[in-house]
Amino acid sequence: MTETLIAFGGNLSNPKVTFRIALDELCERGFHLRRRSGLWRSPAWPPGSDQPDYLNAVVQGHFESNAKDLLKLLQSIENRHGRIRSVPNAARTLDLDILTFGDDVLKTEELEVPHPRMLERAFVLIPASELQSKWLRYVQRLPQADIEATRYAGPW
Ligand code: ADP
Ligand code: MG
Repeated sequence: MTETLIAFGGNLSNPKVTFRIALDELCERGFHLRRRSGLWRSPAWPPGSDQPDYLNAVVQGHFESNAKDLLKLLQSIENRHGRIRSVPNAARTLDLDILTFGDDVLKTEELEVPHPRMLERAFVLIPASELQSKWLRYVQRLPQADIEATRYAGPW
């Protein structure tokens, strides 16, 4: 089993309910939850894109197989929740990303681990730092405006 951090995001229908169902589905298929962050709310990117706010969270646990199998599982769960891949940054009901997978460093067409953009994203780093304090130093390097735009939105 390998320890992994998985990011949840969504800004359509009811992300909190979608996150709970998606987490149950993950746990039924080889993921063993250890801890989850709270929910964090932030404006959709890019600024002024006229989309609903995002909710984000990060979960920490162990997965029974490898990173590639975890990506397949995440994509099947996204698809079940009506994720439609259209243009980059399109609104979505559910986005599931692998942030880290043990000490794996992977760079293929379909999968990059650690997630290449996680260090730039307040909505990922802030919930991740609830679970692992090592991310706090990267939070400190973010633009203040990004930190302030990321608001705690309760448990889920
Ligand atoms: P984003 O998450 O960047 O908004 P998508 O969810 O549409 O965009 O993902 C685009 C592609 O990113 C997926 O088809 C997947 O193969 C790839 N990908 C690369 N690395 C990862 C990762 N660590 N976690 C999830 N998807 C990844
Ligand atoms: Mg994704």
